[in-house]
Amino acid sequence: MDIREIIIPGDTPGIEWRLPVLHFKGNDPQAPKIYLQAALHSNELPGTAVLHFLCGKLRKAESEGRIASDITVVPQANPIGAAQSHFGEMQGRFDLGTRTNFNRDFPLISLRDRAGLIESLDRYRAADRLKRELIHMALGADLVLDLHCDDESLQYAYIDEAFWPEASDLASALSMDAVLLSDGESSAFEEAVGFAWKYEVPGEKRSRLPGKLSTTLELRGRRDVYPGMASADADGLYAFLAARGAVTGETEPLAAFAGPAAPLDNIEMIRTPVAGTVLFHRNIGETVATGDLLATIVTKPGMADGEVEIRAPQAGLIVTRISDRLVRRRGDLMKIACDAPSTALRKAGTLED
Ligand SMILES: [Zn+2]
Repeated sequence: MDIREIIIPGDTPGIEWRLPVLHFKGNDPQAPKIYLQAALHSNELPGTAVLHFLCGKLRKAESEGRIASDITVVPQANPIGAAQSHFGEMQGRFDLGTRTNFNRDFPLISLRDRAGLIESLDRYRAADRLKRELIHMALGADLVLDLHCDDESLQYAYIDEAFWPEASDLASALSMDAVLLSDGESSAFEEAVGFAWKYEVPGEKRSRLPGKLSTTLELRGRRDVYPGMASADADGLYAFLAARGAVTGETEPLAAFAGPAAPLDNIEMIRTPVAGTVLFHRNIGETVATGDLLATIVTKPGMADGEVEIRAPQAGLIVTRISDRLVRRRGDLMKIACDAPSTALRKAGTLED
């Protein structure tokens, strides 16, 4: 395993960010190239823990000459966000200077323009420079996994329909609870990578990308950072890498993915019409029926008319839930994966800002 550092000069005097990049050299030039990163939202650490354990497994495979693919690992991709603290709380999702989500505004380019991503970097602010370095590395690979997590959550992934069902081996290897099939219409890291591949020939969009994968894995909730869980997920990722020929030996065939794969249009984003204290009746992992009571919002504590009920608009699996207990009007409460499209209007692109 080689270690190098990408240096990102800060935007103020005396600051410099150092980003460790770990690399395993493959012995088979035909094997797919792999890029793995975690904690682009720097307060989402389950993936960092998983990659820590995965690298241990890869070093063992390397010592036995079993690494076929070039594998690049960035276990903690956002030192800029990691350093942001506001009133004693880490702010890892948005750049405090610009309010830009660290996982949006990735350049949407054709793969053929990849080299230009890291030319004249002095023209860019530190956060944009970081984004260019990250996506430049990813576009050198065939299989790109961006490890995130949700608030309170099952394990699931956003997978562009261009990679489905080929990518069901990943869902199977990690025993995902659900797959959310996305439309690739955003500037998130994963979708910017897919965009570059789809428009490798500018103006000619490819709708299927065999042999490629770019995905966002949501490794449960923000607090789900435990040694056993991370180690088991690292085993799952390793099994996926083995199934795709990135590491050789001790490969076992993966079972077919049995979980639900729901288009984003079939995700019910449960929002609260009122502000108040949320009392959840149902938890992640539970299947609900149409009309089931999901939550009570206490709008006027102590008063007879002080409650509003939130009910399931259709049957489905509760995939995520917020951890806040004081909710603002129109705040998101849950994501429920359903069999039929939601009647709520959804813009193309991501479910959340
Ligand atoms: Zn995230």
